[in-house]
Amino acid sequence: MPVEKKKVLVIGGGFGGVFAAKKLASGKDRFDVELINNNNYFVFQPLLPEVAAATIHSSDAVAPLRLLLRGIQIRQAEVMGVDFDKKTVTVVQGFRRVPVDLPYDELIIALGMSVDLKRFPGLPEHALTMKSLSDAHRLRTHVISCLEMADVAKEPDLKRELLTFVVVGAGFTGVETVAEVNDLIHRALKYYPNIKHEEIKVYLIEYANRILPTFPADLAEYATKRLRMQGIEVKTGIGTKSATSTAVELANGSVIPTRTIVATIGNGPHRLVESLNLGMQWGRIKTDRFMRVLGHDGIWAVGDAALIPLVEQPAEDPMHYAPQTAQFAVREGRQLADNLIAKVKGEELKPFAYTSKGSLASLGMSKAVAEVYGIKVSGFLAWLLWRGFYLSFLPGFATKVRVLVNWILNVFVPPNIALVQSAMPGTRYIHYRKGDKVLEPGMLIDGFYTVVKGELKLTIDNLETEEHFERTFGPGEHFGERVLLKSSLRTGLVVAREDSIVLWISQRDFMRFARAFPFLDTYFKDYIDRTFGPDMIFAPGSAERSHEIEPTH
Ligand SMILES: Cc1cc2nc3c(=O)[nH]c(=O)nc-3n(C[C@H](O)[C@H](O)[C@H](O)COP(=O)(O)OP(=O)(O)OC[C@H]3O[C@@H](n4cnc5c(N)ncnc54)[C@H](O)[C@@H]3O)c2cc1C
Repeated sequence: MPVEKKKVLVIGGGFGGVFAAKKLASGKDRFDVELINNNNYFVFQPLLPEVAAATIHSSDAVAPLRLLLRGIQIRQAEVMGVDFDKKTVTVVQGFRRVPVDLPYDELIIALGMSVDLKRFPGLPEHALTMKSLSDAHRLRTHVISCLEMADVAKEPDLKRELLTFVVVGAGFTGVETVAEVNDLIHRALKYYPNIKHEEIKVYLIEYANRILPTFPADLAEYATKRLRMQGIEVKTGIGTKSATSTAVELANGSVIPTRTIVATIGNGPHRLVESLNLGMQWGRIKTDRFMRVLGHDGIWAVGDAALIPLVEQPAEDPMHYAPQTAQFAVREGRQLADNLIAKVKGEELKPFAYTSKGSLASLGMSKAVAEVYGIKVSGFLAWLLWRGFYLSFLPGFATKVRVLVNWILNVFVPPNIALVQSAMPGTRYIHYRKGDKVLEPGMLIDGFYTVVKGELKLTIDNLETEEHFERTFGPGEHFGERVLLKSSLRTGLVVAREDSIVLWISQRDFMRFARAFPFLDTYFKDYIDRTFGPDMIFAPGSAERSHEIEPTH
């Protein structure tokens, strides 16, 4: 008699989910496996710093899930919720993005972690992150944009800010990112005649007393020296306090003026995982040693999202739990699949047990540090080891070939500095510290500003007519519309009277909205007349706005 197949849903197509699903495919006669992921590809996160450095093309650091997981149903959809009583997962999917409930018998949660920078004022608004493919792509675009703007910058302060790059956090993501970005900048400089190597400042900021905390101290020491030799200023034992669009403030009160902050800190719980009301600790779902979620039959968790004990009686000590690395997530995924197969067959489940085989970190300029099976290696040999290891680890033959070709090409050809996409989104939050200038007289207006938190003051002085105007803006109030809509491109002085957050909408997006919705047009005309008077144009500007203005922050 044919066995009734169990429906297994795997939510999340990263290391944990993919390797669990792959192994489950061997039990096809017993399972009907479906993997749900918001992208139709798997991201090899350890290669993201190389994508940011333009060493690898972004599409080559990923592999299509349908190619990796033949025989398994793939669904590109966003998981929105889980109903544990009804045993369904709700997703939005497809062209019309309608919510759909998918039933399961067994559920594997493999959604990874999110980035949470809320503890640091200004960092959520201004820091670039390094978690997804689009993050890496955005960083590459941003760095090249800074070089483009610095090459033509007339104000020395602005040029200095554009040429200062700050990476916060010195785990392997931070170290590899700072090293790769530094390489990209210096390799690209020969195409920017107005920028000298000495003008580049790259910082690595770490709260702990040393970098690479998971590496032996002597290798971390070697890595620090190498990064310093490459011109990177490594600051350890110092936290980050806050950030604005033009600076990062450190815990000791020092301020680094910069237009580039990359945060590799702040691993936080995935918002959906947090909403599921499962037992959580340190932002991760508590499981037993077999990766079953505590108190929930038929629910499993794996990878970064799961807190999997490595010992029988774990204490409040992170060392007693599986670390959040790809190396572990792969083994956890395979072991979880074995346990699920064992459960269905009525066999005994095995506790997860794995000891790290070592760690590798690239330091740029063909150097790396590695500790493999207890043997420490540094320099070029470690770099070769690093490349060989990741090549063998990459899933899918086609991905391996493409990455290898990229690496070889990179030795002989210059970095690709083509800007195929703007670095700036059309809408974003901006954090200002008390006293920061938001807009200055004579500046070309770049967008529409709505105060979300704090208070800002506008002052306009017309020297010809001796008219003076001032007003303050609090939460919900806005400015910029007069200049955008009344054919004047120039603005007054706007200063933050206290630490403030502002929602900025680009000129282009604002004008599209204002033109598309007649009630907005009416509202703004009334507002301008009420606030400034019908005939009041303070500063002469161009009547025709024939060009788009790039954001200045
Ligand atoms: C830049 C960087 C470098 C790293 N380098 C190394 C390294 O050198 N060595 C190492 O061992 N580890 C490294 N890591 C850590 C490693 O990548 C992670 O530990 C690993 O990816 C965790 O796997 P995971 O399956 O738990 O989560 P992830 O790989 O994050 O996968 C989660 C998946 O869930 C999907 N998802 C999330 N939310 C939803 C939703 N609502 N609906 C549908 N799908 C969703 C995501 O798109 C993603 O595909 C690095 C990480 C980063 C960010």
